[in-house]
Amino acid sequence: MNCPKCSVPVPEGAKFCPGCGAAVAPPLAASDGQAQPPPPGPGAVPPPPGPPLPPLIPTPPGAYPGVPVARNNPLCVASLAIGVASIVFLCGPFFGVPLAVAGIICGVMGMRQVDESPREFTGRGLGQAGLVLSIAGGCLSILLHVVWWGRVWWWCGNGLCP
Ligand SMILES: [Zn+2]
Repeated sequence: MNCPKCSVPVPEGAKFCPGCGAAVAPPLAASDGQAQPPPPGPGAVPPPPGPPLPPLIPTPPGAYPGVPVARNNPLCVASLAIGVASIVFLCGPFFGVPLAVAGIICGVMGMRQVDESPREFTGRGLGQAGLVLSIAGGCLSILLHVVWWGRVWWWCGNGLCP
């Protein structure tokens, strides 16, 4: 290295310039407080990419098109909701049967979609639960209406028609 003041060659390890006597800083030490990190050599390893932190605001599926995010299959969710509704609306005017049919269709299609693309969809259990609830709702609804209309028919046959 050379002296920063007079450019006289300074032997390695020397603390003072042999030409002008100025203090020569050792190569890697900070001369005037300006600490510079050593340049990254070829062996420098970047920090390993850890698992991404969960975002505070849930991003909608599909926000990262390159990264497939398994999400609950909408048909399975719909099947579960319809199955619950078919139980809730059992007493409605035949609401239970069409709801149950819709729930069964959604459940079967949803489970098939989960089976076909498990990387994209989850929620097979939801579809299964929806299917079971829909079948139960449909059967109960049919049973309820058979009993109800059977009683009406019996009342009318006995002169008690409402
Ligand atoms: Zn010098």
